[in-house]
This record gives sequence, structure tokens and C-alpha cells, in this order.
Amino acid sequence: MQSMTREDITDLSRAALSQWFAGENEAPYRAAQVLRWIYQRGADSFDAMTDIRKDLRRKISERFTIGRPEILDTAASADGSRKFVFGLLDGKRIETVLIPERDHYTLCVSSQVGCAQGCAFCRTGAMGFSRNLKASEIVAQVRAVRFSLPDPERLTNLVFMGMGEPLANFENVRDAVNLLTDPEVGMKFAARRVTVSTVGLAPKIAALGRETRARLAVSLNAADDETRSRIMPVNRAYPIARLLEALKGFPLKTGKRITFEYVLLSGVNDSPADARNLVRILSSIPAKINLIPFNPYEGSPFERPSEDRIAAFHDFLIEKHFTAIIRRSKGPDIAAACGQLAAGS
Ligand code: SAH
Ligand code: SF4
Repeated sequence: MQSMTREDITDLSRAALSQWFAGENEAPYRAAQVLRWIYQRGADSFDAMTDIRKDLRRKISERFTIGRPEILDTAASADGSRKFVFGLLDGKRIETVLIPERDHYTLCVSSQVGCAQGCAFCRTGAMGFSRNLKASEIVAQVRAVRFSLPDPERLTNLVFMGMGEPLANFENVRDAVNLLTDPEVGMKFAARRVTVSTVGLAPKIAALGRETRARLAVSLNAADDETRSRIMPVNRAYPIARLLEALKGFPLKTGKRITFEYVLLSGVNDSPADARNLVRILSSIPAKINLIPFNPYEGSPFERPSEDRIAAFHDFLIEKHFTAIIRRSKGPDIAAACGQLAAGS
């Protein structure tokens, strides 16, 4: 027993953990008790779980560890955002960005090490794909950052907009979202404050809506197939019409909208004709548009449009009665802005 490699308890489902307790002749409710310590009170040792008998705590710790990836580095931006570099057990690295808003924090989490989608404007895409994150590795980013804050409750919003394509790692992202929003033993995030952003993997979109209560964001980035295929290879498999069709299968509560992200690239997708196309294709969808001026990185072939051009694009959408905002990415000085994350192995 003693020599057995201990398992990371955060890799077990609640059901599997209850079963383990039952096998040890302990009440299955112990599982909920332990999980609450980990996810709701930030415990990182079984010793901290003071309402569990000492001998039982010892038994648990002989069998399990509480995994938490190591924070290898943090960087603070002049605008208040903070980037965390995590080292995973196999030596890979991922990045997570904490963004202060007026009265709360938003955390931008990673779902994969690297990304296989190869979008031409994205630094994560340029590094290629290494592997999927386990559900526990996704949740651990949130645990580690939340419980390092003086007031953990202020972290209320999560966006799956870090490294990787969440829907290409569907099961693990789904399990992570469900634990993050679980009010009983999980991290109790309000589902309306959890947003999963996808490059547009059409076949998985309805499933995300069925199997989680997260909000959806879609990285559209171009309003015609020719341009979109040029900058986003995924568009060759799932062109715009197919993507929009899939979005109709995503359950939206009354009054709620799908967010569309649109990275503005000078001379590529920022013309008045592009704005008109965008209005046309989104006319029958409850949409909210986030315009993200391109964040440059070393070796990137694109440029950010001029401020006038950005404003003109935005103005046109507003004129057409769309909800559209210009999203200035946080953390460009520490390479933490959208599309700049690139820690790898
Ligand atoms: N893979 C998912 C989640 C990552 S989100 C997705 O693509 O949706 C990353 C967001 O940043 C996407 O909306 C993407 O279009 C945007 N982005 C990528 N590279 C960027 C860059 N260099 N400048 C600005 N935004 C970028
Ligand atoms: Fe991957 Fe998203 Fe970057 Fe595209 S934009 S390469 S899908 S992380």
C-alpha cells in the first residue's frame, strides 16, 4: 500500500471518490466533504481538513495527493493584469491571465498546450499542438489563482480564451466547466459568467449547449469564406454557413446573445465592405460583437488597423443597431493579450 503511487484526487469524479470511501467503510458523504475543502476553501493538504478524523485524513493522504500545477512565473502588466505560467507534471507549460475589471476579476484559462487550429494571426497557433489538458489541469488554473487572491470571491468570471481550442478537447472542457459551476461540491461559478470561446468547430457546438450551461463565444474574424479560409484553416472544414447553422442548435435563454469575436487585421478584414458583410451574415442571430484590434507578436505577418479605420468599422456596426465594443486586450506589455500566449514545453 505504502509504496503505491498516490493518485491525484482531483482526477477522480465525485462518484468514484464516494466509491473509494465506501470501500474503506466510510460514509460516501466524505467525498463531498473533501471536494468542498479543495474547491470551495482552497485546501492544498488533507491536514487542513480539520472536520475529518485524523486517522481518516492519514488514510486519504496515503492514497491520494491534491494536485496543483506549480506556478513557475508570474508577470504583472502596467494595466493591472497578471499572467501566470504553470508547469505541468510532464514539464509542459501553460499560461493563464488574470484581468481586473471595475468590480471583479476575470480569469482567462487555457484548454490545451498549444493549438492545432493554425489561425494565421495567433501566436498560440504558430507554436502548434502539444496535448490536451485534463479537466483537473483546467480547474487547477482557477483554483491556484483564485486562492492566491486576498479576496477569492472577487474572481467571478471565467473565459476559455487562453491557449488552445476548447471544443477540440470537448470532454475535458465539459467536465471542467461542470465542476467550476457545480454549486454543491465544485467552485460555484455562475454559469452565465463562464464563456467558452471556439474557433468554430460546428459539430461540437450544440453538445456544449446541451451538456454545460456555459455561454458561447465564436471567433469569426472574417465575414466571407475566402478571407476566413485564408486566415483560419478551420473554415475549409466548416465554412461560415455551416457554422451559423450549428449556432442555431445552441440553446440560448431569452434575451441572451452569442458573442462574436472579430480580430481586426489591417487590409485583410477591416474594410467597409467587410463591415457590411458582417452585418449581413449576423442579421438573423442574437449577436454581440467584440472587435479586437490585432495584437502583434514577433514574426507576425499582420498589422493593426489605424484608429480611424477601427472606429469606422465600429461605427458602422452601431449604426446598424448591433451591440459592438472595441476590446482593448489587457497585458500586451507582458505578452498576455489575446493571441499572444505561447508558453510550451
Ligand atoms: N481557440 C479559441 C479560444 C482562444 S480565444 C478561439 O480561437 O476562439 C483567443 C481569441 O483571441 C480568439 O478570439 C482569437 O480570434 C483572438 N486572437 C488570436 N490571436 C490574436 C491576436 N494576435 N490579436 C488579437 N486577437 C487575437
Ligand atoms: Fe487556436 Fe484560437 Fe489561436 Fe486559432 S485563435 S490558433 S483556434 S487558440
